[in-house]
Amino acid sequence: MKRAEKRVQAVSSHLSPPAQLRQPSVTMSEKEAALTAAPSDSPTIFDKIINKEIPSTVVYEDDKVLAFRDIAPQAPTHILVIPKVRDGLTGLSKAEERHCEILGRLLYTAKLVAKQEGLDDGFRIVINDGPNGCQSVYHIHVHVIGGRQMNWPPG
Ligand code: AMP
Repeated sequence: MKRAEKRVQAVSSHLSPPAQLRQPSVTMSEKEAALTAAPSDSPTIFDKIINKEIPSTVVYEDDKVLAFRDIAPQAPTHILVIPKVRDGLTGLSKAEERHCEILGRLLYTAKLVAKQEGLDDGFRIVINDGPNGCQSVYHIHVHVIGGRQMNWPPG
């Protein structure tokens, strides 16, 4: 059994039935997707989006970054900003000093996209990292989420 599968089983078996019932199903499926995704350097679905092999709704593109709408939006506006070249950045925890420029570019693009989307009252930036961070795609990406009141603390 793979480590991720064990983790899914462990999470499930440690939740009492009432707690399981309290979990919205969408949250569990996202958590399961994240725990099933094995951190790796293999190409991801985002490579196919970058190469236009599968469709996406692109809202911003330049030579370094691509921003497109999340296929499972968690708010009225939910956009992912990714580097076109991953360069080892499967996730933020893999960042090295050479990545400072692209990391800055991702955040600046997030700001541009938020402005373009009219999120003038604010928005949420999220970078999930690793199984505990609920990361499911191992190509670094910044979530830009807005269009509704966010809650704190996050789930
Ligand atoms: P994370 O869980 O932080 O790794 O985020 C990955 C995100 O990618 C999720 O919010 C998914 O809904 C999104 N996603 C997966 N496949 C696609 C796709 N084909 N087009 C757009 N978004 C996608």
